[in-house]
Amino acid sequence: MNETPDPALGASIIHATREALRQAQITLPPDVIRALSMARERETSEIAKGELANIIANLEMAGSLSVPICQDTGVPVVYITLPPDVPLTCTMYDAVAEGVRKATREIPLRPNVVDPLSRENSGNNTGAGMPAIHVRPGDRFTITVLPKGAGAENMSRIAMMLPSERDQIPKFVVETMLLAGGRPCPPVILGVGIGSTFDGVAALAKEALLEPIDCMTPYEEEILNIVNSLGIGPMGLGGKTTALAVKVKTGGCHTASLPVAVNVQCWACRRATVEVDY
Ligand code: SF4
Repeated sequence: MNETPDPALGASIIHATREALRQAQITLPPDVIRALSMARERETSEIAKGELANIIANLEMAGSLSVPICQDTGVPVVYITLPPDVPLTCTMYDAVAEGVRKATREIPLRPNVVDPLSRENSGNNTGAGMPAIHVRPGDRFTITVLPKGAGAENMSRIAMMLPSERDQIPKFVVETMLLAGGRPCPPVILGVGIGSTFDGVAALAKEALLEPIDCMTPYEEEILNIVNSLGIGPMGLGGKTTALAVKVKTGGCHTASLPVAVNVQCWACRRATVEVDY
């Protein structure tokens, strides 16, 4: 890694991180808003329609008041996308963490990050390994954030299946939602990782949540239809819309393995990308 600090670049990363968090916390992406509106039209139960209307009204109010759409502003999951001409440096990690601290103070965000054993709260949404930072190659230098609330994250599951159990993947995904019930604030989006390794499959499931939800493969739609036949419905009060989408991301795996992970995302599918000026 190149260790030479670049104060101007650091400031740009801090700004992009803070701005991405602001956007993600206050407004949902257009594809998610469209999916919520379409679900409200499709629902026949008055309670389900009412719950979706409440979610949409909440979104409109958060936007007009410039406040977070949910009290649980989550933990910061951050993706740095680096173009070929930008070397990765340690100071980039420090700048992202500083952007999180700034966002926590200024938006403001609820300080959610604690030490896992002492439960001591850092007060600024950073800690050991937090923000969770992932680096990937790309054409543009961007910061993408995916703040993750605990209600949905806690319902996520992982399984080390056998290759012969490939047909059981939809069952595992549906079972995950059945066990979760209303706790992850449905309608949810289910990020499904298939393949890679034990740690890699969880990362794939989370990355699947970065994809737009208005296009799905036949396999994703097939799983979505089964999930929606559960009848859990918006906020667990019954209805046709338990999930808005299922998104699958795959990776190569050992010939003797079939890792599968489901990362549950509540209706507050907060994601935003901001370009870094460099
Ligand atoms: S699960 Fe999502 S919508 Fe529910 S409280 Fe947590 S962040 Fe908010």
